[in-house]
Amino acid sequence: MTARHRIAVIAGDGIGQEVVPAAVECLDAVGARHGIAFDWHHLDWGSDHYRAHGRMMPVDGLDTLAGYDAIFLGAVGVPDIPDVETLWGLLIPIRRAFAQYVNLRPVRTLPGVPSPLAGREIDLVIVRENNEGEYSEIGGRIYQGSADEIAIQESVFTRRGVERVARFAAGLAAGRRGLLTSATKSNGIVHTMPFWDEVVRGVLADYPGVTGRQELVDALAASLVLHPERYDVIVASNLFGDILSDLAGAVAGSIGCAPSGNLNPEGKHPSMFEPVHGSAPDIAGKGIANPIGQIWSGALMLDTLGHAEAAAELVTAFEAALESGVRTRDIGGTATTAEVAAAVRANLT
Ligand code: ATP
Ligand code: MG
Repeated sequence: MTARHRIAVIAGDGIGQEVVPAAVECLDAVGARHGIAFDWHHLDWGSDHYRAHGRMMPVDGLDTLAGYDAIFLGAVGVPDIPDVETLWGLLIPIRRAFAQYVNLRPVRTLPGVPSPLAGREIDLVIVRENNEGEYSEIGGRIYQGSADEIAIQESVFTRRGVERVARFAAGLAAGRRGLLTSATKSNGIVHTMPFWDEVVRGVLADYPGVTGRQELVDALAASLVLHPERYDVIVASNLFGDILSDLAGAVAGSIGCAPSGNLNPEGKHPSMFEPVHGSAPDIAGKGIANPIGQIWSGALMLDTLGHAEAAAELVTAFEAALESGVRTRDIGGTATTAEVAAAVRANLT
């Protein structure tokens, strides 16, 4: 019996156009081995769409996406269009409309990938709150341009919002090494962060097998570099999670390998899978972009769609390809994007 999945594909800009086809090829290959068929629907949204229509996606873009099982995204954004357009015109509306309140970022040292922490084993997952917190539209500026100018930006944390992301993170930790570290800053941010701590502690009461730890985000950032092996699952607010996941990705090696999932854990809406890196205009069009972050994001998608075995096989295959020396330039090799994809396919067993 074949499982069919309808996937919306937004390859987007720059190297998104190169790494997405590479990953699609790998997903088709692993799917064929496990009775999984993908119907890929390509949507040409992103910067070209913005130039032609003044928007990153069509007015009814969210309605279109709602009909798919998942969204597979490359990268959107180019240097001459402000980042804020990309974020608020595409990424944030999608994350919110589909209640993708978990941003999942696994971080692991990979075979053959040089890391600034050479020889240290990193194996952790960052769970970033993806729908609320510090990224709000509430606030404004007054007395603009004057010496008395004031800018105010409010954070919004809801009990429901913190509880659901904490619950997801605790459940994830329960299935791993049983350690959940919560990033806080309750010594400096005196309303929202004590609330965050309180709600996380309350959730942990339901997970007796999980050890909870609360760390100030500044100390946690330093500790991630000095003692990465101390972490299993880290749960953090939108802003803290954003910063910590870039940091963790960098210490694990290239940003080109880092995957992410924007999850709606209940499966009521489509989840979205994208590499952590951007459109990398400096290397776009050369065929040398590292496709591992996109392929690994594809493995997260397989897992979320209920195909854990196929997902694990795809991960094993790209690890084997890396170990055999087929690596792109960013991680010290000479292989092209297409050669890496071919090696991953050849390693599917
Ligand atoms: P954005 O604003 O879209 O996040 P950016 O320029 O801030 O873009 P990236 O596009 O991630 O960030 O690029 C950062 C650096 O990492 C660039 O030098 C880029 O070439 C490199 N890089 C990013 N992704 C890859 C990849 N998949 N393969 C190789 N190098 C990459
Ligand atoms: Mg950037």
